[in-house]
Amino acid sequence: IHANSTQARDIAHALHPYTNLKLHERIGPTVISSGRGIYVRDDEGRDYIEAVAGLWSASLGFGGEESMVEAITAQLRKLPFYHLFAHKAHEPGTDLAEKLIKMLPLPNGRVFFNNSGSEANDTAIKLAWYYNNALGRPRKKKIIAQMKAYHGVTIAAASLTGLTRNHLDFDLPMASVRHCDCPHHYRFAKEGESEEAFATRLAEQLENLILREGADTIAAFIAEPVLGAGGLIVPPKTYFDKIQPILKRHDILFIADEVICGFGRTGNMFGFETFNIQPDMVTMAKALSASYLPISATAISEPIYEVLRDNSARIGSFAHGYTYSGHPVCAAAALEALRIYETRNIVGHVQKVAKPFLAKARALLDLPFVGEVRGIGLLAGVELVRDKKSKASFEPARGVGMMFQTEAQKHGLIVRALGDTIALSPPLIITGEEIDDMYLRLGRTFDAFIPQLNA
Ligand code: PLP
Repeated sequence: IHANSTQARDIAHALHPYTNLKLHERIGPTVISSGRGIYVRDDEGRDYIEAVAGLWSASLGFGGEESMVEAITAQLRKLPFYHLFAHKAHEPGTDLAEKLIKMLPLPNGRVFFNNSGSEANDTAIKLAWYYNNALGRPRKKKIIAQMKAYHGVTIAAASLTGLTRNHLDFDLPMASVRHCDCPHHYRFAKEGESEEAFATRLAEQLENLILREGADTIAAFIAEPVLGAGGLIVPPKTYFDKIQPILKRHDILFIADEVICGFGRTGNMFGFETFNIQPDMVTMAKALSASYLPISATAISEPIYEVLRDNSARIGSFAHGYTYSGHPVCAAAALEALRIYETRNIVGHVQKVAKPFLAKARALLDLPFVGEVRGIGLLAGVELVRDKKSKASFEPARGVGMMFQTEAQKHGLIVRALGDTIALSPPLIITGEEIDDMYLRLGRTFDAFIPQLNA
């Protein structure tokens, strides 16, 4: 690492998210300096296929979408900032709210804007609390989330996240959060238990949890249709069919976290369509703006909205909002991204390329150390295990997933290690040939990697 290089200056000054700082000081960052389509280039001129779309987010890739740049610059010239507090509005914010309500199964619902997925989920929690206060049910406040779910990192969202490392060093989760079982059949089913029976058991366990806590203390249940950062876990087909009636019976709101699944990723516009979920609230971020600019949204159903409206005189205005809620330039970017998804039929494209994408992912099961391959749409997870037969994992300290991620980069491929699961989630615009190229690079990575595991 040369003195005064970007790497050296970065090590000296920047504190990175989710980064092992000791390792960072030793190896330094890969400095990404430009991009085009599914490729990014580092500052030494090496090209990589970005097989995770950054953080499952750059749905239209890393450059080359001129109309995105035009929409953003046009809005910058017209009105670079205004807010939405206390009876103010601006056109991009209004247009985007209207557009999202048309896309969502929340007729006459409303949309609240935030800057990130974490904030969108925080807003959903506050809305659920405010709603139950308005209904005179101050005890009905707990939120149930799944083990291994990822809902973000703010204090409330990190509490929902069902991953130990997001809790341990921060005295989380907060007191009003409960976690239910993770719907991962490969890991948590009993010997010989079918997916269907596993889903039934999880639904029963969820109901037991609700009864134990008292349904009158539980406001909402939140789930990602496909669990992303917790290990790319696709729930059994009937899982949501089985848990939704239970939630309804106990008057518990369903919050669908569409931060990854939203806008085409699973082969439908939203993940809740793929799993036949009828949400009361929907949180969205990432692909909402194709990640050109930060913006997120929390949408609520009409019945929730009506309770908030009819009680706002009594309990006061909804005292929540960010300076940049619905930032006009970010809203303009989102509107253009949504226009592109529609005019280019991005959902149809995902359905088409998902077939070879998933078939090639599943073929990896023949390799040694590949325990499970799971996926849907343009999402795939390849779980590496020490012993395929017993499903025994590698020692966590060995950092096998991270080793794979590092090896992949040597072969011009950026993947994401979620523990020992390798995640693939390429930009939605990926072509059939690019999928071939991606798996070619992945194959070379395995060729070099398997001997390291045998050593
Ligand atoms: N929800 C899901 C499903 C996510 O995957 C993420 C981020 O990866 C978040 C919420 C948090 O979003 P952000 O990082 O924008 O706060």
